[in-house]
Amino acid sequence: MQLYKTGIRRKKNREDKVCFKELSKPGKEPLFKLEEKEMLQIPGIEEIKDQTPENWYQTYNLSLDGYSMFPQPDPISQEEKAKIVKRFLSGLKKLLNPKSNWTFIRPLKLSLENCVRCNTCADACHLYLASGRKEVYRPNFRSEILRKIYEKHFTLTGKLNALLGEEIDITYDLIRRLFELAYRCTLCRRCVLYCPIGVDNGLIARELRKLFSHLVKN
Ligand code: SF4
Ligand code: SF4
Repeated sequence: MQLYKTGIRRKKNREDKVCFKELSKPGKEPLFKLEEKEMLQIPGIEEIKDQTPENWYQTYNLSLDGYSMFPQPDPISQEEKAKIVKRFLSGLKKLLNPKSNWTFIRPLKLSLENCVRCNTCADACHLYLASGRKEVYRPNFRSEILRKIYEKHFTLTGKLNALLGEEIDITYDLIRRLFELAYRCTLCRRCVLYCPIGVDNGLIARELRKLFSHLVKN
């Protein structure tokens, strides 16, 4: 099948597997490194420099993959960090409220509630393929984080799982990595066409950006 002829080797070792729990851990260093030799070669792009100036860590959030879309200086106190988590959850509540998000609530909820985790969508995503199949860029990886947060806070199953210790830890560090991850998607929605049940990972990424843009503005 043409789709699979990308010339990119499937990575065998588990070093680049990032589990959800790791995303919640504090830290400024990237969770993994993007290796140029594993990535899709683009003609005209010169060698990627691998030196992050030390002062960038004060201004940018590089804790996902070593890159950052926006300056995001760290808040100073734990109280401020806790406030950001609270504001994220209240923003999510608004996204799931038919009054404040009447245009997108239905497709959003359908996409959050109906994924069967088959990962058919993965091979449709140019970003995932071009990165050398890095786990965090899988279309459903980003959605799964939001899904877990949604389940934990808005569904009975999620609350029961939380009692069993199977939940995701919603920390400031998770939120800021998810912020970056929301921008590792071109919103092309190619993955939607390959999903056997029509889950819209592009829509989830876009709704996340909506949430984060409110978080930054207010
Ligand atoms: S989004 Fe669709 S294709 Fe992707 S893992 Fe979920 S059900 Fe499978
Ligand atoms: S919408 Fe995003 S996740 Fe889906 S294929 Fe496009 S870039 Fe990949």
